[in-house]
Amino acid sequence: MATDASQTLEGIGVSSGVAIGPVVRMADPVRPPADEPSPSDVDEAVTRVRDALDVVATELDRRAALASSDAADILTATAMMARDPSLQASAERRLRDGSGPATAVDDAVEEVCASLEAVGGYLAERVTDLRDVRDRVVAHLLGAPQPGIPAVDRPSVLVAHDLAPADTAGLSRDEILAIVTEAGGPTSHTAILAAQMGLPAVVGIGAGRAELADGVVVAVDGGSGQVLVAPSEAAQADWRQRAEQRAARLSAFSGPGRTSDGVPVSLLANIGTVDDAKAAAEADVEGVGLFRTEFLYLDRSAAPTIAEQTDTYVAVLQAFGTRRVVVRTLDAGADKPLPFVQHGEEENPALGVRGLRLARRSTALLDDQLAALAAAAQQCEADVWVMAPMVATAEEAQWFAARARAAGLPKVGVMVEVPAAALRSGDVLADVDFASIGTNDLTQYTLAADRMLGELAPLLDAWQPSVLDLVAATVAGAGDTRSVGVCGEAAGDPLLALVLVGLGVTSLSMAPTKVPAVRAALALHDHARCAEIAAAARAATSAETARAAVVELLAPEARPLA
Ligand code: PEP
Ligand code: MG
Repeated sequence: MATDASQTLEGIGVSSGVAIGPVVRMADPVRPPADEPSPSDVDEAVTRVRDALDVVATELDRRAALASSDAADILTATAMMARDPSLQASAERRLRDGSGPATAVDDAVEEVCASLEAVGGYLAERVTDLRDVRDRVVAHLLGAPQPGIPAVDRPSVLVAHDLAPADTAGLSRDEILAIVTEAGGPTSHTAILAAQMGLPAVVGIGAGRAELADGVVVAVDGGSGQVLVAPSEAAQADWRQRAEQRAARLSAFSGPGRTSDGVPVSLLANIGTVDDAKAAAEADVEGVGLFRTEFLYLDRSAAPTIAEQTDTYVAVLQAFGTRRVVVRTLDAGADKPLPFVQHGEEENPALGVRGLRLARRSTALLDDQLAALAAAAQQCEADVWVMAPMVATAEEAQWFAARARAAGLPKVGVMVEVPAAALRSGDVLADVDFASIGTNDLTQYTLAADRMLGELAPLLDAWQPSVLDLVAATVAGAGDTRSVGVCGEAAGDPLLALVLVGLGVTSLSMAPTKVPAVRAALALHDHARCAEIAAAARAATSAETARAAVVELLAPEARPLA
């Protein structure tokens, strides 16, 4: 694309689409200065603190009105904390004792936090929300930008150091046009959520973030990872036109996924919420290949009841009519911590008690989820499949399959995202009906590279021939009776999709926005060519040469997809 702008920044494109708009930066929290002076006029300081608490509460209420129901409940409850008279009284007492305004609020909040923590349970979990109120009030008093997702007065491109999955999930598509982050890797959950929301996103922009000041217009290409700073009118028009041309080319293909010789490859959606489900059900997809249920729990302080979960699953299943919906049981831990499940800090959370390992520790949590899903399946017509995350051994797969079947769920599978499971897929899949390869974690564990680290992006690449070998091993071990799909980010890369299908994968699940390019790539190659493409990729010795070998073998009409 034309890049006649003053500057072009390069990051990692993780959610395709072009967006152009002014930057809004997410500020880091500020702390009260250690030497904050006592107020010269205490009454005036009391009024200032009260006003600051009120401004923050009003802003939280405003955001609640715009948020989805779960996020709205949290924001409303947090606004109520900011209006708590005992908090105001405690801050006032401290001001009269000589503390500066920001220090008074900080100390008052810490006092309330300490008493909540002493009570424990649900109340202790409100401490995080209360500290969020504190950070906002302190920033207001010091005249610093509000921490967290900023309020915007026009649709903007959000620029941050990094974003927590819960922050990303709460973003409003009406307010945020695209995300650009300094840190973050291509398979971080923030990147995945952005793709699911259809929000163009570039991560790992590094020191380039310094160029992105509030209000500067940028053009973001979530496919290539380019960010143009202050593009000219001509460059903006050029970017928009190319994005439209690409969309028009892809819209020529529709319907179920298949290679040019008619071999079916199911094209499925990855979803995380009821809203995602409703949006994905409208798209041209054959169902859901990965319902990440942990996103339902992320911003909660206690597990939802069976009845609540059943309602949620019914809403998701109903959206898809009779289509397939593959539900993954809770995959908490590592970069998706859940306060009510985790027990203490771990040195290496990605290698710790996460995924199915957590379910084995808290079996009630899993059994409740399976019961809720079985109840929902009874009420709906969808073809419900259930699978477990982070399965490493045959014994774990057996354990899960027995529990899921006992709950009344007949179609049971496992995710293959640990190299051990790929290498011994014959054993691991012996007692289940299907496998879904999670290439995000499979790549992380194969290359021993933390998927959260943008710096390790070259290693965290599912084009790595070692990862392709493990996909091939999974398919070989699965035999003819079990289907093997891919639901990691690799499935949404049109060129890599050809490789995966050539290796014997029969379904691909991805953010719905990625489906059209993958459908087009498949429709332009027959299955034998996919097998040839896969062989060429596996014969390479690096991720770059694997991709280059595939580009050489593409049908000419598919080259614009590369
Ligand atoms: C994966 O690891 O590839 C996967 C699909 O699961 P998640 O990204 O949620 O860990
Ligand atoms: Mg995973």
